Parts: sequence; C-alpha cells; structure tokens
Amino acid sequence: MTATTTAGLADRTSELLRSLGAEPLLPSAPNSGEARAARSPVTGETLGLVPVTVTAEEAVTAAASAFAEWSTVPAPVRGAVVRELGELLREHKSALGELVSIEAGKIVSEGLGEVQEMIDICDFGVGLSRQLHGSTIATERPGHRMMEQWHPLGVVAVITAFNFPVAVWSWNTVLALVAGDTVVWKPSEKTPVTAIAVQALADEAARRAGVDLPVTQLVLGERDAGEALVDDLRVALVSATGSTRMGREVAPRVAARFGRVLLELGGNNAAIVCPSADLDLTVRGIVFSAVGTAGQRCTSLRRAIVHESVADDLVDRLAAAYATLPIGSPLDPDTLVGPLIDEDAYTAFAAALDEARADGGIVVTGGERVDGPGVGSADGAAGGVYVRPAVVRMPAQTAVMRRETFGPILYVVTYTDLGDAIAVHNDVPQGLSSSIFTTDLREAERFLSPSGSDCGIANVNIGPSGAEIGGAFGGEKETGGGRESGSDAWKAYMRRTTNTVNYSSELPLAQGVTFGSPARSAGSAR
Ligand code: NAD
Repeated sequence: MTATTTAGLADRTSELLRSLGAEPLLPSAPNSGEARAARSPVTGETLGLVPVTVTAEEAVTAAASAFAEWSTVPAPVRGAVVRELGELLREHKSALGELVSIEAGKIVSEGLGEVQEMIDICDFGVGLSRQLHGSTIATERPGHRMMEQWHPLGVVAVITAFNFPVAVWSWNTVLALVAGDTVVWKPSEKTPVTAIAVQALADEAARRAGVDLPVTQLVLGERDAGEALVDDLRVALVSATGSTRMGREVAPRVAARFGRVLLELGGNNAAIVCPSADLDLTVRGIVFSAVGTAGQRCTSLRRAIVHESVADDLVDRLAAAYATLPIGSPLDPDTLVGPLIDEDAYTAFAAALDEARADGGIVVTGGERVDGPGVGSADGAAGGVYVRPAVVRMPAQTAVMRRETFGPILYVVTYTDLGDAIAVHNDVPQGLSSSIFTTDLREAERFLSPSGSDCGIANVNIGPSGAEIGGAFGGEKETGGGRESGSDAWKAYMRRTTNTVNYSSELPLAQGVTFGSPARSAGSAR
C-alpha cells in the first residue's frame, strides 16, 4: 500500500466545489426537497448531501424551450460557449481532476487526464463549429442542384456512467452544443459531485459567452431519473453510456417512440500477442490497459490471447510487473492502482475469480483484497475497497471470460495459429476495443482487415484503452454501435435534410417519369 493522503475528504470536496464556482455539499439533511448522500470510494466516507433540485420533466421543458432559440444561433457563435468552457477547464484542471480522484477513485494522473480529454474535445468542438458541412451531389436533372444540410436535432439527454464521470459528458455535450442542440445530463448516482462542478463551469461558460439560455442542465437521481428522460417524447436523442444491461432497457423504450439512441455500453477487450512482439513494450501496454483505473474502464484489457511460444515468458514478466504495483489512495501521486467503486464491485470481482478457478484457471498473481485508507475512520466508513490486480491463466476461453467483470482481472489463454486467435478474440458478445502486439506487418494488417478484429477500435502495439478524442469512439455488438467524440460523430447530434433546387423553367421528374405530358413512360418514383 502507498501512504494515505485522505484527511478531511468532505471538507476538501466542499473547498474544491467552491473554487469551481459551485455550491458546497450540504452537511446534513435540508428542510425541503430531496437530498442524496455522496460517497468517496477512496475511504468509503460520506462527502456530504447533494440537493436534488430539478426534475427530469422540468429540465426537458426548459431545454425544449431553449432549443427553439439556440438552434437559430449560427454554429460558429455557438462555438463560443465551447471555447469559454475549454478555457475554464484549463483554468480549473487541477481542482476538477482532484475531485474526479476523490469521487471516482482515479489516480491523480488519470483524474487530470480525464479533464484534459474535456479540454481536447472543446478544442475540437470550436473548430468543428466552423466545419459542419454537407455534400453537394450530382443530379440527373438539368437545371437542378441537390445538396445535404445538417440541422440541429433537439433536446439531447446524456446519461453517463461512474467511471468517466466528466469526460463522457463533454464528448456528448460539446458536439451537441455546436450542433445547436440543448442538453440534459443525468450522471451516475455514484458521481453527482463532479457533475455539479462541471455544470457550474458550463453555466459560467454560457455566461461568459453572453448566452442567457439553459443550453445545458443537470438532473441528479437514480435510474428513474434516467428513465424519465428515456421516455420523454421531447428528447430527440438519448446518448447513454453504461452497462449492456442498461442499454438493453433503454434502446427498446426509445425505439418504441421513434427517438434516436447513441449507446456506449460494456466492453470485453482483448490483446493478441504474437511471437514477434516486442515484449518490453507489450508488458507496459498490457499493464496500463489491464490495471489502469483498477480495471474499471470500458476499454480495460480483460483478455490476453498469447502465442504459445511467448506465453510463459510474458506471464512471468507480467507477474513481476504486477508485484511492484503501488496500490492505495488514488490521491497519493505514487499510487498506480486505486479503489474499486464499491462493495458490489468487489463481490463481482471475487465471484469471477472463483468461477475462473472452477473452470481450471490458475491465478498467477493477485486477486486478494487489501486494506485501504479510511478503515476504522471516525465517521464509521467501512473503508475503500482495494484489491490486488489479478492475472489468471485459463485452459480455454470460458463463459466467465465472455462477460465483462468491471475490475482488474486479466485472463490469459494461448494460441498456435493467428486465425484461431482472431476467432477467440471475436468470440465474445461485446465489440468495443482491441489490440495486437506484433512487429510483423502481415499480422498487423490481418488484424485490422475486415476478417480481423470485429471491434469499433483496433490498435497495433498499443493496448485497447486510452483513446484520443480525434477518432470516433465506440463499439459493435453488445457495446451498442454508437460513436462519440471525433471524426464525423457529430452527425449523430444533427438531422440531415436532402434538398433539391430547380433553377430551370422545366419540371423534369426523376427516373424519367412523365406525368400528365403527352409522352408518358413507365418508371418508378419515390
Ligand atoms: P450502469 O449501467 O449501472 O449506469 C450507467 C447510467 O445509466 C447511470 O447514470 C444509471 O443511473 C443509468 N441507468 C441505469 N439503468 C437505467 C435505465 N433503465 N434507464 C435509464 N438510465 C439508466 O453503469 P455503471 O456501473 O455506472 O458503469 C459501468 C459500465 O459502463 C460498464 O459496463 C462499462 O463498460 C460501461 N461504460 C461504457 C463506456 C463506453 O464508452 N462504451 C464508457 C464508460 C462506461
């Protein structure tokens, strides 16, 4: 364990909130309205009470009314709000990063990295606000022009998960704002504090940009608050990030009212390690991807499919690297492995290891629970939930490996033929991120080809986690098919119109159809 630096997390949280322009948490139950306790996974202690002030209904009403005006503001002017947000995030990066560490348990560098990701998408969004472009398309009719335009879509509901408590909001919200949409955010019930801080920064950004409209709003609450957004006919797009279980509930409900969904759900990411792999680089890539955020990233590496000729060597090196991992308070700058989010996460971690053992798996290293800071603290908190990341050698890919267990377990299986390795790689229900470690160009290209990885993200000589914002982010199969962030992901937040303009004095019909003229001919028309 690393040393602990967790004294007074509740006081520190309120101090950070104030510095970010937000109200501090309530120390005790308020007289009116609802309030929810916010908790830190670092020590298990209560940080304070979060007032629940706005309902989903009220937020959507305000967002729908703001949309009518916001959607008419020119896109480059909308970009000014995003520019201000980016500046505020730069100014407050360390405070917000620390709050992410306190509330989500990310180590210092990852907390700051999450805020940097927000800054990066703001930079991207400002440029995008001048580049929302449609195509012009050749028409078959003389004297005509055909083109596409992209128009604002409406109210966007953004439902987020605990493990990226602020960045995922920004990936969605920046694109939505630039697109001319208004946003209602329902963060995870496990991370309301960082959401309050981000909302305060977003309000300030709008003020600085001279926008007097509720273009972004925050609704705190549990699943029912998310469900209210999902079922609201006025919400044009539900962008939901979380478990596949959640996506399975959300998708049909939104489809039943012909709304749009953008789903970013669970992953079960793998790396294939080939005989030619640079093993030093591979070990570094694997350790970061498998134990970063204590294995609680959607892109965390969960399965290593290793050529039999290098498997023993690789596993030995991994065991040696795992043995040196500093586990403890994520607020200590030396820590590399912070806490699991809560006790339920530990139960799932331990159950998966039991199942793997029953399947013939051998736990090479880790798997134990270790004491963290806060045990026996004055407020009676049970302490944070800390474990040693595990590496498990499996005889084959079994059912437990096909499930996403949200914790630091790396299963290792071996292969002899690359085709078989790719088949094992793809033989899971999820399809988020993937990687291959090789110095053989043919192997790398085969992995990236249509008959290679079936994931939304496929990397070479990089682990599956740690994407940049410039690319489209998302995955296939049970990961939900959505794409967020860079590339042309902005199109999901807009509606496309196809326009045909006749600047001639004739009225030729498509497909050569004639209607009411002397020379009739058969044809189809749409
Ligand atoms: P979760 O599914 O428990 O909760 C996510 C959010 O959905 C929360 O805000 C929750 O209140 C809300 N929610 C739950 N059920 C709902 C319903 N029926 N209707 C509306 N809203 C509902 O997920 P979690 O435990 O917070 O996060 C971990 C999961 O998220 C993992 O599976 C992880 O892979 C996934 N995740 C995916 C991505 C991605 O980009 N693909 C990113 C981060 C996390």
